[in-house]
Amino acid sequence: MPARCQFPQICQSVQVAKVVHIQSLWMGILKNLIITGILVYLCFALVCDKRYQRKETLISSVHTKVKGIAEVREEILENGKEVHRVFDTADYTFPVQGNSFFVMTNFLKTKGQVQGLCPEHPTRRTLCSSDQGCIKGWLDPQSKGIQTGKCIPYKLQPPKTTCEVSAWCPTEAPEEPPQPALLNSAENFTVLIKNNIDFPGHNYTTRNILPDLNITCTYHKTENPQCPIFRLGDIFQETGDNFSEVAIKGGIMGIEIYWDCNLDSWFHHCRPKYSFRRLDDKNTSESLYPGYNFRYAKYYMENNVEKRTLIKVFGVRFDILVFGSTLKYVSFVDEFHIRMVGEQLLGRSLQDVKGKEIPRPLMDFTDLSRLPLSLQDPPPIPGQPEEIQLLSEEEAPRSSSSPSWCQCGNCLPSQLPRSHQCLEELCCRKKPGACITTSEPFKQLILSRRALQFLLLYQEPLLKLDADATNNQLRHCAYRCYATWRFGSKDLADFAILPSCCRWRIRKEFPKSEGQYSGFKSPY
Ligand code: GDP
Ligand code: ZN
Ligand code: ZN
Repeated sequence: MPARCQFPQICQSVQVAKVVHIQSLWMGILKNLIITGILVYLCFALVCDKRYQRKETLISSVHTKVKGIAEVREEILENGKEVHRVFDTADYTFPVQGNSFFVMTNFLKTKGQVQGLCPEHPTRRTLCSSDQGCIKGWLDPQSKGIQTGKCIPYKLQPPKTTCEVSAWCPTEAPEEPPQPALLNSAENFTVLIKNNIDFPGHNYTTRNILPDLNITCTYHKTENPQCPIFRLGDIFQETGDNFSEVAIKGGIMGIEIYWDCNLDSWFHHCRPKYSFRRLDDKNTSESLYPGYNFRYAKYYMENNVEKRTLIKVFGVRFDILVFGSTLKYVSFVDEFHIRMVGEQLLGRSLQDVKGKEIPRPLMDFTDLSRLPLSLQDPPPIPGQPEEIQLLSEEEAPRSSSSPSWCQCGNCLPSQLPRSHQCLEELCCRKKPGACITTSEPFKQLILSRRALQFLLLYQEPLLKLDADATNNQLRHCAYRCYATWRFGSKDLADFAILPSCCRWRIRKEFPKSEGQYSGFKSPY
């Protein structure tokens, strides 16, 4: 019996768990079964997870050569005379690691530095009024040397005193880089990019410079998109940046090489596409070190004293990013899995290629719930069933124009040139049956002008849906909508091939006013 509490205000009841050991064969078996189950599941999940590595491996090597000459004005202060110097490749390029190259566009020089004692340049940190303001041995990461503990004159007129440091003297002045940049003319430099690639999964290698290429060309997005020689100024123009502006403080520019490859031996196609992207943040505030710069020094001996010229270099680092894909994805309405078609088509229709089965990513319905189709239920039509019509498994009537590989009766022959037709020979079904274009979600989601307009505006609230372009916008949106619906993740949707019946049903609803349809293009 617990003792009665005499002071109920300070006593509290305490609960204590009691441990009981039971020797039970069944409990033991159950516990071990559960642990084994969890382990088996974990192993299974890890093995299966490999199948999610859908990005294709591409091995790439890059080599660059920058060419160009610049005349640089360097002022010599003593007699006020200007000196002009010619800079060649060795003067303005620096070795950088990885798939990058660097071109100097501007610099600040501190000449004739020697090891010694000198005052620091005045800043809030280094100004002092007496020796008390300086600490012997003090070492600040921002400073140029080690303080000696003395406060000495930096300048006589107006008088300024700063802490003395043991450093490379005179110390570098905190100066703004020259404007305009000293190597402003670097925009006329050119770079030749050599890129060799290997798709190990296909045992296929190629390179961007083919033997018959005219090496005196200059890259142009539309007129010469295969030329591997780029004028630096043009690269900046492509991204909407001003070279002269970036040249002052430097920056980082990405050159993307995307290999879009169809490794089919019949319709072989594997050429690079170049695009550019500014990688540094051009809106960085002054305090966050905008641009791109580093320091380096040239050492020399003068009268047996080691001296150096310190150079703060501003310039553009170009990072070359190479990626590629040969993969396409297809999905049949009568199959649970998605198929990854990485292998060669060998002249067969896409419909007949087996591919590799990969699990369909689970759908996330959050976006769908925002669609207007859920907002308004149409009033029931008398005499018609209220439920959503199910897709019938009966064989559909075959239209006379439907090609032999079509299983749903609604597909049409491709309009593409012969060499690319097999990519569009794909039905919505693997086995004969009703077409997905007759299903309720297809009508409500893919063909609804209202739903698509909503999606477009959802993405870009200020989008102008002008009369001319609207059909094209809606059609492209419908393609994307279909791909997202049937393939789930964006990863797959970008490389998903639409079945012919869906492609033509969408085109019928939102036709192009003139010209041929261009068909699937990789998104990069
Ligand atoms: P266009 O409007 O004349 O250019 O011709 P299309 O109506 O064929 O639309 C072309 C655009 O839709 C391109 O951006 C294509 O990448 C895209 N597109 C066309 N077919 C497919 C497809 O099968 N899958 C995917 N993911 N996009 C496609
Ligand atoms: Zn079909
Ligand atoms: Zn179909």
